[in-house]
Amino acid sequence: MSEKLVILGGGESGIGSAVLGVKQGFDVFVSDAGTIAQEVQKELNQLGVSFEEGGHDLDVILKASLVMKSPGIPDHIDLIQQIRSSDIKIVSEIEFASQYTDATLIGITGSNGKTTTTLLTHHLLKESGLNVGVAGNIGYSFARQVAESDREVYVLEISSFQLDDIHKFQPEVSVITNITPDHLDRYQNNFSKYIASKMRIIENQTTNQFLVFNAEDPVLVEALNGCSSKVKTIPFGFVKPDHEGVYATNDQIIVQQDNSNTMIQTTHFQLQGRHNLLNAMAAVSVARLLKVSKDSIRESLMSFKGVPHRLEQFLRIQNVNYINDSKATNVNATFYALDSVKSQTVWIAGGIDKGNDYSALLPLVREKVKAIVCLGIDNKKLLAVFGPVVDIIVETQSIDEAVKIAHKIADKKETVLLSPACASFDLFENYEDRGNQFKQAVQKL
Ligand code: ADP
Repeated sequence: MSEKLVILGGGESGIGSAVLGVKQGFDVFVSDAGTIAQEVQKELNQLGVSFEEGGHDLDVILKASLVMKSPGIPDHIDLIQQIRSSDIKIVSEIEFASQYTDATLIGITGSNGKTTTTLLTHHLLKESGLNVGVAGNIGYSFARQVAESDREVYVLEISSFQLDDIHKFQPEVSVITNITPDHLDRYQNNFSKYIASKMRIIENQTTNQFLVFNAEDPVLVEALNGCSSKVKTIPFGFVKPDHEGVYATNDQIIVQQDNSNTMIQTTHFQLQGRHNLLNAMAAVSVARLLKVSKDSIRESLMSFKGVPHRLEQFLRIQNVNYINDSKATNVNATFYALDSVKSQTVWIAGGIDKGNDYSALLPLVREKVKAIVCLGIDNKKLLAVFGPVVDIIVETQSIDEAVKIAHKIADKKETVLLSPACASFDLFENYEDRGNQFKQAVQKL
């Protein structure tokens, strides 16, 4: 009899795992406490996979020999505790899929910059002619791609939730972009637990595999110093490393590797800000490890257009620059957005505060922010923290109103920056909805 695979969650990672599970001969059952989209149900029916929605049938689930838990499901709920206490193995989708491919895996994690670094790395590798797939939170799930196509290399964006349920997952190259407080609600408000979860990306890596890490990040450096991993470490940052590593000057990224230096021009790299240069160093480092040529990397850096909603230069109207950074859902991302703007700025901020400490932003706000337009149902904290620091601070509860007011306040050569430092769910469906509505409102001006 075939082994029973229970998949918790009927989203993209769930359906992808079902496709792969069927291909690998599992008896698959999908269970979702919410609703499962019609097109997913159709696909499950075509696959011959049974499923339930609106609740979990514990009797069926506890007969599993393996459970794939979608990353959105928190660990502390009763169902997961019961599965764990029944000694049934729980895996994440990344863990599950990685067992069925021989491709070279690049795993990219961090608090901010995962998507940008993943897409840039994918671009550098693809343009060099490699047969490379991209997965994680992007596009089709890794499991589905492993089932349906065969790649030489996968670049995987990996959240800490995906890392919580790995056992053997072993990327050839891992990347940690940075570690700053985020999602602490899922880690009992314990930053150490969140750090430990990110560091798991290297736990199965061995002496001939690589970790590319941000040497500018004190939390990450300390975590690495305290761990016994044998992985080869490659630092990147703005300071020239003593040995192997990658650093950047004004117009170059320099890779020190195997006793030689490779210099790559960044003059025409289109992404703004120091953080994007850090992301570029990480991506270049991976490309060099995979032996992509210097010329190919330089060309591809130039042709990379960036990712929507991440410091996206949207429009210039009456010589005011409008930037959509809706994906900035935490303080660190907004820090880099404010750091990167070169003019006086009207800053649109707010939403659902995840326990933010705004103090790191105060110097930048004093220096560059002429006005703050709060955009959220509850703006009390922003008003309290920044009220004494800026001349103008106004409250709004709609994006149209926020954009109109920002437009009135901004003078020629200034910037209007949407970089909320908060989640979007009070007024919007998600950060994409917020960014799209921002762009529509700007277009209407
Ligand atoms: P993630 O996938 O980790 O959320 P994104 O690439 O989607 O990262 O970027 C999320 C937000 O963080 C955006 O506002 C972006 O401008 C900002 N950001 C991107 N890279 C970095 C970085 N290396 N450090 C800090 N913030 C970053």
